[in-house]
Amino acid sequence: MPEHPPAAIVTGGARGIGLATALALAHKGYRIALSDLDGPDLAAAVERVAATGIEVLALPGDVSAFALVGGHAAACLDRFGRIDVLVNNAGISQPKSLVEISEDEWDRTIAVNLKSCFNWCKAVAPAMLAAGRGRIVNISSVSAHTGGARSAVSKFAYCTAKAGILGMTRALAKELAPAVSVNAVCPGSIETALTAGLIAANREAITGTIPLGRIGTPEDVAVVVAFLATVEPNYLTGEIIDVDGGQWIN
Ligand code: NAD
Repeated sequence: MPEHPPAAIVTGGARGIGLATALALAHKGYRIALSDLDGPDLAAAVERVAATGIEVLALPGDVSAFALVGGHAAACLDRFGRIDVLVNNAGISQPKSLVEISEDEWDRTIAVNLKSCFNWCKAVAPAMLAAGRGRIVNISSVSAHTGGARSAVSKFAYCTAKAGILGMTRALAKELAPAVSVNAVCPGSIETALTAGLIAANREAITGTIPLGRIGTPEDVAVVVAFLATVEPNYLTGEIIDVDGGQWIN
């Protein structure tokens, strides 16, 4: 029986960095499962990825819901017969300060940005370990190192969640080795729906802080994620790679 082509799950795959990553992996021949909130963005993304000629599975729902994610992983295995790559990309911003934020807002920020990574890693790791191979790439942020830009907007809950992803990446890199590699990517200022307002209001000032002289695109991040997810031979795990045009060189 011919072997199935490889398969990748991209969370938050309906737009921005997630969609660019899904397209990059599709162009490398990976079948794609797109996990994202149900809605027109997800439907449009499925069409865009399918237009590459690749088989696509939509996984609509909230990545912070543990049981739902377990069901989605099972649906992927059922459809694709294998899971080679998991990209934990779904995330939300949270611009409230410690004084302003409510308990619910804190919980939601941690659940969508960090617990989602636990949910998905737990759901796919058994299949990857059984297969003796797998790649996990977690999307953190340079805010995990910097505490966010010094501006009127504090993002401390977001920074906390993104720093948690780095700890999870390093610990799971050890725990799941040697079969499964686990790495993280920290985007800098990337122009997407998440950052459109902030970037539009501060474009020149932000660009002035970036040695490579431009704000990043989703494709700038996707090419690095696709490298970590697919390159052979692979001798990288537990690595944290900043994709920020040199903005946070220290
Ligand atoms: P985006 O808002 O364009 O895309 C995020 C996607 O995640 C959306 O499709 C959204 O629907 C999905 N999502 C949000 N909550 C979800 C939930 N509960 N369940 C399922 N899906 C959900 O943002 P982006 O800029 O492409 O960001 C992608 C990742 O990169 C995020 O984790 C973000 O924190 C990180 N990041 C982005 C930047 C940047 O400058 N854009 C910088 C650093 C880190």
